[in-house]
Amino acid sequence: MAAPDPDFSALTAVGLNLHAVVDVAALPASLSPDLPRACRGGQLIVVANAGPLLWRAVKAAGLASADPIDDFSVDAVVQWFARQFPGRRHRVLYPGGSPLGLQALGRLLGWHHATPFMVGILPQWGSWFGYRVVLWADTDLPVTPPLQVESPCRACTAQPCVAACPAQAMGAGGFALEKCLAWRRQPASPCRARCLARDACPVGRAQRYDEDHMRHTYEQSLRMIMRQR
Ligand code: SF4
Ligand code: SF4
Repeated sequence: MAAPDPDFSALTAVGLNLHAVVDVAALPASLSPDLPRACRGGQLIVVANAGPLLWRAVKAAGLASADPIDDFSVDAVVQWFARQFPGRRHRVLYPGGSPLGLQALGRLLGWHHATPFMVGILPQWGSWFGYRVVLWADTDLPVTPPLQVESPCRACTAQPCVAACPAQAMGAGGFALEKCLAWRRQPASPCRARCLARDACPVGRAQRYDEDHMRHTYEQSLRMIMRQR
């Protein structure tokens, strides 16, 4: 008899509300070499947050660590797994040292449809979702069918995101990352703590991250950008 679907409700309750199970054996060749040797069988459990709930749960738990979103998410997923599947082996692949193509994984799941500013978008959530944890597990759970949705960008002729980018980083040639980074590095840049293009997209507005969540995330990414100079 096939194993029942896992009960993700404890994760959903804290804003970790997108989940998928993938067989490692079914991963495309472009993804599987990224996996550690010990994780070449079994399954991946992919967990993302969508909308503002995760940040609110993280704040309620305290923001004492250097990376409170990652720490909270890993802790929640590992504890959830241990309760659901006691004794089963598992290993956190992301966040962490294992190189794993998250967007490629997202495409496989039907989660990743690139916007002009390269963040993924979904009809229900807009661009307000993010990959939080990829757990390798020695399980035999039902595999999640890929999400069958069309990118909202296909029907968006006005493209307000493109016009809102002060660096004009989105042109006919695609996304010019260097233009975006140069703009963000400026001391008075409005893009130090947000992406104006992302904020201009009307899709999934009700799911927009809270202001302090946005500031936390973008200031964190800016610190990494500044270190890489
Ligand atoms: S504004 Fe339009 S093109 Fe830009 S991300 Fe949103 S749906 Fe896509
Ligand atoms: S962060 Fe600013 S410069 Fe970069 S894509 Fe967004 S709006 Fe454009």
